[in-house]
Amino acid sequence: MPTYQYQCTACGHGFEAVQKFSDAALTTCPECEGALRKVFSAAAVVFKGSGFYRTDSRGSSSSTASTASSSSSSSSSGSGSAA
Ligand SMILES: [Zn+2]
Repeated sequence: MPTYQYQCTACGHGFEAVQKFSDAALTTCPECEGALRKVFSAAAVVFKGSGFYRTDSRGSSSSTASTASSSSSSSSSGSGSAA
């Protein structure tokens, strides 16, 4: 079975997919559901190691827990500053 290389045009996520010829080509990125483009493995283009890999670009994730709750309860302990 042939191996196709895809790369996302949105987040740059690249991966390989083993597909049959009868399978439809992938079009959406599994990471961010962006548009994929098929990368033809020319010489010196195939990076086997995940050298460049951006993981912190999650585009469409629903629950964003960004509640900046920086109100630390400072318990006013009466540290004795007696004279
Ligand atoms: Zn993507």
